[in-house]
Amino acid sequence: LGGSISRALAQMSNATVVDEKVLSDCLNEITRALLQADVRFQMVRDMQANIRRAVSLETHAAGTDKRRVIQKAVFTELCNMLDPGKPPFVPKKGKQCVVMFVGLQGSGKTTTCTKYAHYHQPKGFKPGLVCADTFRAGAFDQLKQNASKAKVPFYGSYTESDPVKIAVEGVERFRKENCDLIIVDTSGRHKQEAALFEEMRQVSEATKPDLVIFVMDSSIGQAAFDQAQAFRQSVSVGAVIVTKMDGHAKGGGALSAVAATRSPVIFIGTGEHLGEFEVFDVKQFVKRLLGLGDLPGFIDKIQEVVPADQQPDLVKRLTEGNFTLRLMYEQFQNLLKMGSIGQIFSMLPGFSSELMPKGHEKEGQAKIKRYMTMMDSMTNAELDSSNPKLMNGSRVTRVARGSGRTVRDVLDMLEEYKRLAKVWGKIKLPKNLDPRNTNVQ
Ligand code: GDP
Ligand code: MG
Repeated sequence: LGGSISRALAQMSNATVVDEKVLSDCLNEITRALLQADVRFQMVRDMQANIRRAVSLETHAAGTDKRRVIQKAVFTELCNMLDPGKPPFVPKKGKQCVVMFVGLQGSGKTTTCTKYAHYHQPKGFKPGLVCADTFRAGAFDQLKQNASKAKVPFYGSYTESDPVKIAVEGVERFRKENCDLIIVDTSGRHKQEAALFEEMRQVSEATKPDLVIFVMDSSIGQAAFDQAQAFRQSVSVGAVIVTKMDGHAKGGGALSAVAATRSPVIFIGTGEHLGEFEVFDVKQFVKRLLGLGDLPGFIDKIQEVVPADQQPDLVKRLTEGNFTLRLMYEQFQNLLKMGSIGQIFSMLPGFSSELMPKGHEKEGQAKIKRYMTMMDSMTNAELDSSNPKLMNGSRVTRVARGSGRTVRDVLDMLEEYKRLAKVWGKIKLPKNLDPRNTNVQ
C-alpha cells in the first residue's frame, strides 16, 4: 500500500507541470492502492474529494507549491482516516486499574495481554494477568506459559467454570498484591454469538474495568467494522489493538475499518513473540506507509537494543547526512541480521518499503546480498565518497568484473544508493533527537 502511494506521489514529483491530468492520475493511483488494501469505498471516495478540495483551495494563493500541497493533503487525509481524534484511557503507575481484553477466539487476546503487560513492566508498572477464559480447553495453561515467559504474575483456575467468578477473584487478588495494571483475558468462542456478548457484559459489570481493549486480527479486513461495532454494543470498548499486522495485505483495510468505529487503535501486533508489539501512532504509521521513515521510532528502538557504548556513534553517523556507500553497506549488514536488529533497521527511512517489502523479504535479502558482493569489490575511497559521480564507467566495469556481475547490476546498485542518499539527505533531525543530546548512559 505504502509503496504504491509513494510511487504515485513520486511520479507526480517527476512531472514538469502539475496540471489536472497529473493530479487525476495521482489520485487514481492512490485510490486504487487504497481499494486494493481493502479500505472502505466510502472512505476512499471522501478522501479523494477532500484532497481535491484542499488542492483547489490552496492553489489560489500565490506561490504555493502544488506538489507540496497535494503531498500534504494526502498525508493529512490518511492521518484523518485512521485517527478518531479521541484520546484513549492511559494507565498510570501506582494507580490501580483494570484492563479487560475482548475479541473473538484466535484474534490474539491471550498473546496480546502478555505483550501489553510486558510492554508496561519495564516502565515501572506492576502488572497481573487474570485468565477468565473458561471456555477454551487449555486457556489457562496458555496464559500461564505466556505469563511465566514474561515474568508476570497470573491468576486462573482449572476447575472453576464461571468466568465472572474467576475474573472477580483475580482482580481482588491482584488489588491486594498492589498490582497497578490488572489485566483480564477473556474467552472468545468461534463466532459472534449472544452468549459471548452476554458473558463479556457480565465480566465487565463485575470487574468494572477502566479500559476495555478490543483485539482483532488484521486479516479480517473490512469485516473489522461490524465486529468492532458488535463488541461495542455489549461492552464499552475504549481502545483497539490490531494483531497480525505482519504479512497481511488487508492491514490497511482493518485499521481504517476499525478507525471508522471511532475507537482509537493503541498498539499493533507484528508477530508471535513478546516484543513484536508496537505503539500505534497515526502520524508515524502514515509516514512509514509513505516511505518517509520513522526516525523517532528508530532512535527509541536503537536505545532499547543496541549496546550503550555503540549507540552514540551509530546514531550520530546515521544522522550526519553524509550518506556514503560504506554507510549503506553497514545498514545492509544490519538489515540482514535476524531478530530485533533486523526489524529495527527495516524502520529506517527508505529501507523498508522499497528494499524489503513485507511478503517479499526473501527477494529483498537476495538483492541486498547481491549489492553487498558488488560493494566488496569497491575501493575504500569509493566506499567513503558521497559523490556518486566518482563511479565513472571504468570504475563500474571494474566492480562488475571483480564481483562477477554485470555492469547493469552495478548501475542498479548505484541507483539504489542514490535513492537512499536522497531520502537521507531530506531527513531533518528534530532537536531532541540530535545525537549530541541523545541521552546515553
Ligand atoms: P485468542 O484466542 O484471542 O486468545 O488468541 P491467541 O492469543 O491464542 O492467538 C491466536 C494465534 O495467533 C496464536 O497462534 C498466536 O501466536 C497468534 N498471534 C497473536 N498475535 C499475533 C501477531 O501479532 N502476529 C502473528 N503472526 N501471530 C499472532
Ligand atoms: Mg485466549
